[in-house]
Amino acid sequence: MISIQEALNIVLKKDYSVDSEIINFVDSLHRVLAEDVFSDINMPPFNKSAMDGFACRMLDINNELELIETIPAGKIPKKTVGVNQCSKIMTGAPIPEGADCVIMVEDTKILNNGNILFLKDKTKDNICYLGEDITENQKVLSKGTLIRPQHIAIMASVGKTKVLVAKKPKIGIIATGSEIVEPGNVPNQSQIRNSNAYQLISQVKSLAAIPNYLGIAIDSEEDTYQKIKKGLEETDLLLLTGGVSMGDFDFVPKIMQKAGVEILFDKIAVQPGKPTTFGIHKKASIFGLPGNPVSSFVQFELLVKPLIYKMMGCNSALPELFLPMKNRYERKRSERESWFPVIINSEGFVETLDYNGSAHINGLGPANAICRIELGKNCIEQGERVYVRPI
Ligand code: AMP
Ligand code: MG
Repeated sequence: MISIQEALNIVLKKDYSVDSEIINFVDSLHRVLAEDVFSDINMPPFNKSAMDGFACRMLDINNELELIETIPAGKIPKKTVGVNQCSKIMTGAPIPEGADCVIMVEDTKILNNGNILFLKDKTKDNICYLGEDITENQKVLSKGTLIRPQHIAIMASVGKTKVLVAKKPKIGIIATGSEIVEPGNVPNQSQIRNSNAYQLISQVKSLAAIPNYLGIAIDSEEDTYQKIKKGLEETDLLLLTGGVSMGDFDFVPKIMQKAGVEILFDKIAVQPGKPTTFGIHKKASIFGLPGNPVSSFVQFELLVKPLIYKMMGCNSALPELFLPMKNRYERKRSERESWFPVIINSEGFVETLDYNGSAHINGLGPANAICRIELGKNCIEQGERVYVRPI
């Protein structure tokens, strides 16, 4: 059986051409940049006061200063500050000619004659200098960046109002199983509600890709074949859940092959998610994810998410943390790497949760991360550091 790392290498081996489109920068949150972004100006564009106070010469700060002007933010100073003079200045306003520092208003007193007295003996210059944050033509964002709110602010600062981003890949989703009913129904004694499809739709949406839900394939070869065929025609990546284990009706891998898919692996030494199947078909890739909802969730995190990011040309790393365990964790068997739901608490410790296994979707509810225990390892000691991935 291959390891999860080997599986990931296989999944990411295929090259994808990343199609791109130009959109408004405000709509680019969670999209991936398909171009480098450069600044059209210096930032700040002028020497700017960092404080509300009085602009003057550093040489004069211990003298009484004559007030010659008030400079609000957004106005250009009219007067040059001379010896023992100052201009009242607001945060963000341009520093007037002649001044080389700003004394903070909190540290000053207005004398009866209207002059200003600095009550301390030293000050920083309190000036943000022209171009100290960004210089004109500087590259401020790189192609492949996953766009977050701070990147939107950077684009706003440099006047990048239209931006080239990767097109959203279209991800097909098929649930399988004759026992599966949609959530609006009350299941009878042999049925179970479809949670996987809606979990996958949401996981896909969280990556700013487009989910294309193709419904439930009942456990018939014909229905499964038709849905897979349609999915391969309509989407860049197709995700199925269920039908990949050892039961009489688990024929998803066989039907994938019938539909022309080349299977690249059908087992991984990981828990949950051992029967995860992956193949390629012309331009599309296809996953047969396990039916149990926690398995499907975890395999999406470990394998599908990196693939979707690759399809969007994203080169931002997925964060993985190395944190100490709050309590001891034990497992009976150790022939597979395993991932289980945990909480990273406010003290930075990893707490295990009440979790019965891969069907226990409710066990995933309180989790904010999944935690790894390596192949061959039966327990994690209290205080031992473990790899966790925020979810
Ligand atoms: P399977 O691999 O098809 O045997 O499915 C494994 C388990 O996952 C079975 O108990 C299924 O009923 C359950 N399961 C399969 N698909 C779904 C789904 N879409 N939503 C919730 N549970 C599912
Ligand atoms: Mg099934």
